[in-house]
Formats: sequence, C-alpha cells, structure tokens
Amino acid sequence: MRYSGRRVGSSRHPCPVDTIRTIAWMKEQARQARAESRIVGLVPTMGALHAGHLSLIERARRECSPVIASIFINPKQFGPNEDFSKYPRTFQSDSEKLRHAGVDALFAPEPSEIYPNGFSTYVNVDGLSDKLEGRSRPGHFRGVTTVVMKLLQIVQPNFAYFGRKDAQQSRLITQMARDLNLDTEIVVCPPVREPDGLALSSRNVYLNADERKAATVLYRALEAAKNELAAGVRDALQLQSSLRRKLDSERLARVDYAEVVDAETFEPVVRVNKPCLVLLAVFIGKTRLIDNFYIGPKSSSSEELVFHF
Ligand code: AMP
Repeated sequence: MRYSGRRVGSSRHPCPVDTIRTIAWMKEQARQARAESRIVGLVPTMGALHAGHLSLIERARRECSPVIASIFINPKQFGPNEDFSKYPRTFQSDSEKLRHAGVDALFAPEPSEIYPNGFSTYVNVDGLSDKLEGRSRPGHFRGVTTVVMKLLQIVQPNFAYFGRKDAQQSRLITQMARDLNLDTEIVVCPPVREPDGLALSSRNVYLNADERKAATVLYRALEAAKNELAAGVRDALQLQSSLRRKLDSERLARVDYAEVVDAETFEPVVRVNKPCLVLLAVFIGKTRLIDNFYIGPKSSSSEELVFHF
C-alpha cells in the first residue's frame, strides 16, 4: 500500500517519504491498512536517526507491511535541566534515511498536536519507573510511557519495535502493554554499536574527539564484566566493583550508576543466578550515556551472554 499522506515541505526541500502531521490522518491511514488485513509495524523515534534506529526498521520490514516510523521529540520526557532545546534535529536527512530504509510513512506531529492545551492524562508504570534511570531522571519514564501509549493508541500497530539499548524503557513499555491489555506486540531488538563498541546514540554527537575516545569505556567495562562472568564470578558486588574500577580509570568518565539487576524487576541481585541485566549510566564530560548487556538463557544476538542457570 502506498500512503496518500499529504506531503509536506517546500519544493526546495521536498520530503522524500510520505509525512503525516496530524493524528486524524495517521489514524485514518492506519485504519485503512488494518481494514486490508495488513500487518502494521510502528517504530517510534525522536529522530537524529542512526544505524540503531535503522535496525529496528529493518526488523519491522521483515515482519510488517506497512512500516510506519514516527519522529517526535517528546518534551515531556526531558527534565528542566536536560537537553530538550539542543537535542539534534535533522528532519531532512532523517526523512531521506527512512525512504532508503523502505519505510511506508513517517508520522511527525508537532508537540501541540500531541499535547494540546489542557492535556492532563498521563500513563505511569509504578515502581519500575522510579528505579535507576527513573531515580536519576525524575518524570522521564512517565513522559515516555505517556507518549508511547498515545502513539500505540493512534496507530494501533500489530507490532511496535524498541531497542534494548534503552533496557529499562523497553521493559517498562512491555509491562505497560501487558497491564493495559494492548493488542500490540512489543518487540525488543539488540543494541547496534560502533566498531569500537560504543552503542549508537543520537547523543553521541555531543562528544568532542577526546570524549568520543573516552566513551568506549562503557563497552570496555561491560566486556570486562562478561569475561569475569565467563570465568565463573557470580557475586554481583564483585562484578559491580570491577565495573566501577574500570569506569573510574577513565579521567573523563563520572559514573551515575553501574548495577547488576534482575531483568524482570530491575531490583539489585546478590548473585547472578537468574536472568539479569548489567546496566551503566555514565557521564562523559557533560554527556550522559547508557549501555547494558543481558545475561540469560535466551539468545537472540551476540549481544547477550548465554547462561543456563
Ligand atoms: P530514540 O530516538 O533515542 O528515542 O530511540 C528510538 C528507538 O531506537 C528506541 O527504541 C531506542 O531504544 C532505539 N535505539 C536507540 N539506540 C539504539 C541502538 N544503538 N541500537 C538499537 N536500538 C537503538
């Protein structure tokens, strides 16, 4: 199906992928696709697209048609001292990348379309939202789950794709979909990395050359923890202190957290004897980066440490 969405953009900067700006039109297009028994896939993003985002689109294209990507820099998930105003905005090149990636439509609403005057309903996943990222970024996950719920409600996709690079976010969204009986299946995809191991992130553009080099310390610390696990270490405190030591050895790094948690509850564990996540949040200069790896019995990628407990 080709979308007949209104094209936006001037003739000097034509938008190369059909761009839908309004909720009403997005709903109508998605409704038509469902009426034709199409399998609708949604890939929500905040733009500044990189190969990590494109990996979600590739996966969606294998499983769905049409594939809809969204670009919405969600003001409600940024704290007052965070980077909302300087978050990279690269709409034209994003649009070009989406066309190349074979996306059928791009949903790119304005903030006033998503949050009209008087907007006052929020979705919050209790408990999980307050830990780790939620503790460091109060209100962040309430903003995320609210906007994702709205996107899922507008498009009503069969599948929606998220990255495990943001492990707590994808866990929360899976929980929300379960708790609210959504008909959308949440698909969580492995992180994509630079050749030196740095997880791709739209925020990597903030790093200067020295910081960019220093930023590989997250991956180096995770790899060192993987090696310790492979050598038989199961004590979470021991793993955490070697993560800390590695991260602290990098002059430009300041650790926010480095923890081993239960992959379901995100509660700290004492021993690694069930599916776990090793989670890092580290400032490199002023840029806050996160990364993780999963330890568990299911392996869908080389990113995971396969464990039979
Ligand atoms: P964002 O634009 O940062 O909100 O990210 C949109 C989606 O892309 C989220 O589901 C992220 O988890 C996912 N994502 C971001 N970085 C990566 C990466 N390096 N690998 C895979 N997925 C990613």
